[in-house]
Amino acid sequence: MSQSLDSALTKDLDVLTHARMRRTLRGTAHRAEARIVVDGVPAVDFSSNDYLGLAGDPRLAEAATAYLHEDATGAAAARLLSGNHPLHTTLERALAEFKGTEAALMFSSGYMANIGAIPALIGRRDVMYADTLNHASLIDAARLSRAEVRTFPHCDLSALRTMLRDDAGKFRRRLIVVDGMFSMDGDLFPLDELVPLAREFDAWTYVDDAHGTGVIGPDGRGTAAHFGVEREIDVLMGTLGKALGTSGAFVAGSATLIEFLLHRARSFIFTTGTPPALAAATLRALDIVRDEPWRREKLHDNARHIRRKLADIGRPANGLSDSYVVPVLIGDTDATMRVGQRLRDAGYVIGAIRPPTVPLGTSRLRITMSSAHTPEQIDGLVTALEMVLREEVPELVATSPQP
Ligand SMILES: *Cc1c(COP(=O)(O)O)cnc(C)c1O
Repeated sequence: MSQSLDSALTKDLDVLTHARMRRTLRGTAHRAEARIVVDGVPAVDFSSNDYLGLAGDPRLAEAATAYLHEDATGAAAARLLSGNHPLHTTLERALAEFKGTEAALMFSSGYMANIGAIPALIGRRDVMYADTLNHASLIDAARLSRAEVRTFPHCDLSALRTMLRDDAGKFRRRLIVVDGMFSMDGDLFPLDELVPLAREFDAWTYVDDAHGTGVIGPDGRGTAAHFGVEREIDVLMGTLGKALGTSGAFVAGSATLIEFLLHRARSFIFTTGTPPALAAATLRALDIVRDEPWRREKLHDNARHIRRKLADIGRPANGLSDSYVVPVLIGDTDATMRVGQRLRDAGYVIGAIRPPTVPLGTSRLRITMSSAHTPEQIDGLVTALEMVLREEVPELVATSPQP
């Protein structure tokens, strides 16, 4: 083992320590509804993306185990070799139908879908227009593509319009890439306004709908369906590890797009197929998403409930008024981390988000809601939060409760 490697890396880690950016992995187990066990201690999870409470649903486990008794655990090869199981194809058809597109292609994760699909579509002679708050995987995808990258201010369509106009004729292909729902603030990109703009300037559209898939829009078909432009977005990406409760991701679109990606998306080609049992579980999840609309309604009810409660304690959430991603801005990183730790001690796991995930000075609590939360759990969190905020960041408790 090289000592110089360890000493160099230790110095880098020390820098992170001083910047209060050291992180640790905690062991989370026994997920059931919104209950988890963290390092052996029971807690309620307000930090997951398990929006519909499906990750721990026994029906998904049954679908996977039934399958595991019949066939191999691993796909054993890349899909273009001997790793393409009929269930992969069945799931891709179901995903295309769910999204209202001609075809879909699965990837092992959302990160891999983005870093595979985007560099397949654009390259050196092309340009990508990106919202400043796009997910990290989209930023990495842009780098890998070697295309020119233009970032526009968050959801600012008139800035985007100016860029599109000024760039006319300079590039071969133009791709506009946005999150359907932004993961840190819970707001939606106005896709209904994006579509005519893209069309006017002959640009393609790519929507990462990791957070909307299964939850937003009619039947949970996603953000594009919510805005009524499902058929007009060129590339729809969604993930399976959030609302659908399993793991993996997909790109949906025209049959030609999918055929092209099959030949050109390197993160699809050069990787092992996902376990077929996972596809069995995901197919079950899609059935549940369709058959149990109450989960979506309950999620939105829960989001409204906690937002009302937060307003009552004088700490209204930022962002969209009914989003299930509920950010509570604190600002100072240390204070944010202390609040997160004290809530954890009280049995509530929430996201304490700091740079580099969000810009400096905007550290925040990120509470994510699930249909699995009970009113008691929500009230318990807000009560604990009120006390902790009062003690840790008194200046932030702006107003006393309304009579
Ligand atoms: C979570 C997320 C991803 C990554 O998906 P994984 O399946 O977790 O790799 C991509 N884009 C957005 C917007 C996300 O929130």
